[in-house]
Amino acid sequence: MGSARASPESSREGRVPPRPKLTSKWGKVDLAPPAPKRNEHSLWSRLGFLLTWLNGVEHKADIAVVGGGFGGALMAMVARRLGRSVVLIERGTHPRFAIGESSTPLASLLLQQLAEEHDLPQLLPFRRWGEWQREYPGIGCGLKRGFSFFHHTLGQAFSDDERRRNQLLVAASPRDEVADTHWFRADFDAHFANEAQRLGVEYFDQTELTSVDEQSDGVTLAGRRNGEPVTFRADFVIDATGPRGWLHRTLGLAKRELPLMPATSGLFAHFKNVGAWPNPAGAPYPVESAAVHHVFDGGWVWVLRFNNGITSAGVAATRQRADELGLAEGVLGWQRLLAKLPTLAEQFAAAEPVDGFVFAPELSFCSGQITGERWAMLPSSAGFVDPLLSTGFPLTLLGIQRLAKLLGGGIDRAEYERRTVAELGQVSRLVGALYASMGDFELFAALTQVYFAAVSFSETAHRLGKPELAESFLLCDHPEFGPATREICESVVRLSKRDETLAKIRDVIEPFNVAGLADPAKHNWYPAVANDLFAAAAKLGSSADKIREMLLREQLL
Ligand SMILES: Cc1cc2nc3c(=O)[nH]c(=O)nc-3n(C[C@H](O)[C@H](O)[C@H](O)COP(=O)(O)OP(=O)(O)OC[C@H]3O[C@@H](n4cnc5c(N)ncnc54)[C@H](O)[C@@H]3O)c2cc1C
Repeated sequence: MGSARASPESSREGRVPPRPKLTSKWGKVDLAPPAPKRNEHSLWSRLGFLLTWLNGVEHKADIAVVGGGFGGALMAMVARRLGRSVVLIERGTHPRFAIGESSTPLASLLLQQLAEEHDLPQLLPFRRWGEWQREYPGIGCGLKRGFSFFHHTLGQAFSDDERRRNQLLVAASPRDEVADTHWFRADFDAHFANEAQRLGVEYFDQTELTSVDEQSDGVTLAGRRNGEPVTFRADFVIDATGPRGWLHRTLGLAKRELPLMPATSGLFAHFKNVGAWPNPAGAPYPVESAAVHHVFDGGWVWVLRFNNGITSAGVAATRQRADELGLAEGVLGWQRLLAKLPTLAEQFAAAEPVDGFVFAPELSFCSGQITGERWAMLPSSAGFVDPLLSTGFPLTLLGIQRLAKLLGGGIDRAEYERRTVAELGQVSRLVGALYASMGDFELFAALTQVYFAAVSFSETAHRLGKPELAESFLLCDHPEFGPATREICESVVRLSKRDETLAKIRDVIEPFNVAGLADPAKHNWYPAVANDLFAAAAKLGSSADKIREMLLREQLL
């Protein structure tokens, strides 16, 4: 069994220290430009040589992307397709462990849109389980047919009644072929970094940047690669290094408070030999082919299965609950948690962590500034709320879409900053309200319907070619849905007027409910049924025929 590892960096989460280097095949080996014809006796050439020796080689590009995870690599590919020269700078090497694995229908659609808009057909198979299995069988993947929630009372075995009051199953797709996926990030990110290089992105791994110097005509980044000094000169820098990332720390930026979100900590690992969670007869999809959430008062556990024998599992909990459980102690904290969740303990009885636990003392974060004259952070560097509801990927992909527009002059920095902050804020309110209701599963399940209504409405509107109906994540900019969601979340966190809030949730989501949600007759099981969409066509300003046409075109029927 492994033990907790904490990062030496102040409040940054304790990431898994770099694994033994497996390969540096994505590292750019030939860094030196062709040898200049130098007059050995010229003073200038000697001075030039001295400067190069002191500062290392300077690499020039239109765009420098810092952070070579899938977000940075995809941003780099899109910038290349926009005709820019790009350097992609990564501190570590691929393949490497990364957390954040579960995709969603909206994230899959955003990935598809980016691939289509920017002529990246090689990325299309990653939008769906079936295509992925055929085209990239060697890249680890999990089948995600929906979102499964089970509510536990600490210290008791999981149990439920005939009305299924302790579970919620929301299908995201009607069958495996078109289902969403969990991305096994070691394989997935390595593949994306490789693809970026195939498009002409210059990739520098094992590069630790130490300074940034923003001038009127460009930005200079300096650091060391394999112990040697190296500098990069770019017109614009995009930070894709994750929360509390490189620019936030190097520029000494302030933090921004995330509304309604309690302080939380996380503990997670990859496991092998994880047992099965029982699959109830008649469930709308196999409950484990999903993002599985085990919710308890003050926290929740995720379980994501991959097709390579690995299961990703972890817990996110309020600081108070995390301290009570001693999560900072890694494996001991995990064992204490399982002792209070006996049914989950059975599932993990034979499980072994593959590479030790990571403890993240402070999960949520938001940078006080996310753009500058010549730089911008991806949403995944600008902030992070919680793994709950898998909001990280859609926010990252929306950010890449918007930065592509920003590079083309379609939107300005202020608009990018406003939208990113507004969306992180709305996620924070909703997740904060979900934390406040983790002890009251009826309220928790009702609140999740706000999320499911917003994302299913948005996905369908985009697939129908009506993006103007759903321009912001969780419809946070929508004049009615946005403010109403904020009010609901505030009243949940204030613990006021519970029954009125439940009624309000039903009213608020009704005009956006295209997926047959919030229906008491379904007893918390929501299959993906095309008839629900046909019946809700008018809410999208469409018709059942148009929706059928779209479903056939997208191979979803
Ligand atoms: C516990 C947890 C669970 C999550 N679960 C989900 C989920 O299920 N679904 C979901 O949608 N989102 C989830 N997320 C969010 C998700 O992880 C992010 O949205 C996603 O990782 C963003 O990818 P990225 O490539 O932009 O950044 P990252 O994955 O953070 O990659 C950043 C890269 O930058 C590199 N780097 C860091 N510092 C430097 C530096 N100074 N110089 C150069 N390179 C550097 C790192 O080595 C790394 O390769 C989760 C997050 C956490 C913390």
